[in-house]
Amino acid sequence: MEYNIDILVAGCNTNCRHCYVNGGPNKRMTTEDFEICIDLLLPVFLHFGERVSFTLDNEPYNHPDFPRIIDYVRQYCWNSYFHHGSTTGIAFNHRVDKDAIWEKQKAYGIDFASVTLHGGEKNHNFITRNTKAFSEAIDYIRFVKAHHGKLCISLMLSKLLIQDCDEISEILHKIQPDEVYLAIPNSAPSKRMQAYQKYRPTYEECLQLSGYLSAWGLDEAALMKQFEAGSSKNLLATLKTQKAFKIAQPEQCYLTIHPDLNLYIGNSGVETEFIGNLHAATSGIIIDAMENAPANYNFFPVCFAEVPKFEDVIEFAHSDDNLVYPDMDSFITYYAMHKSSTRIHKKRTPQK
Ligand code: SF4
Repeated sequence: MEYNIDILVAGCNTNCRHCYVNGGPNKRMTTEDFEICIDLLLPVFLHFGERVSFTLDNEPYNHPDFPRIIDYVRQYCWNSYFHHGSTTGIAFNHRVDKDAIWEKQKAYGIDFASVTLHGGEKNHNFITRNTKAFSEAIDYIRFVKAHHGKLCISLMLSKLLIQDCDEISEILHKIQPDEVYLAIPNSAPSKRMQAYQKYRPTYEECLQLSGYLSAWGLDEAALMKQFEAGSSKNLLATLKTQKAFKIAQPEQCYLTIHPDLNLYIGNSGVETEFIGNLHAATSGIIIDAMENAPANYNFFPVCFAEVPKFEDVIEFAHSDDNLVYPDMDSFITYYAMHKSSTRIHKKRTPQK
């Protein structure tokens, strides 16, 4: 099993509608608690070696002590740290020490950034629920380019992005990113993702991206195949060939540490089991819990107390508007959330 631990050190400046990790403004972890957390995790990192990594989320640049935090990580557990570089740029833009942070990160080998776009200015601000999100993203992109950093633009597929594809072409032409990626949003079992479903495009709408994807530097043929494979008509056909749900679960386990040092099994936003608070836990307790934790890369097999009936999912797939999902797990997860009778997560709150 491989493990990723998501350490939530500070909340976001946005409250994005597509956010499958349920991010938003949140308390921040104190610097002292962050150091307690890392000290406790050091034996865990040693025990699991290359099989464990951790990230700093949701928006670590919101933490006033970010330079001290990254220094601490660099000094004690650099090999276990995974820097995804994903940011809205808002927190970074407003830091007085942003130049020093960039130089520090660069000295640590981090000279890249990843920014997600949802469409033109209006739709980007709508999805992020922040009226300045687009202009802030552009300011941050300018900073990264001016400092010769590598820039990845992640385009989040939605009806709104498709509506704005000409604007996206203009933006990409202006900013000249080093890499462009297109993400098909999943269906995490959360109310937020349930509400985001109305922006999920149909397969037919995705076909309107023909010509744009290659112009944006993407592998258009591969993406078109992916849209087709993930369309509910195709998923229905796959289900019909099966007699039961078959969701391969990769040997990966996600865990989350909240700002109050509560440690959970499960990705942020879909925590399924409380392990303990790190003020009271030992490294041994964490190792034991991780050794016994289930693989949870896919949500459907681990997040629902009540498994939907196979025939009901088939019937539901018939009525779906041929929307595009990243995979079968997302499709069934959406269905399971849609049915109020199955909207029962396993334990999410601390045991008394
Ligand atoms: S998508 Fe990222 S920035 Fe937006 S709310 Fe979620 S964690 Fe925060």
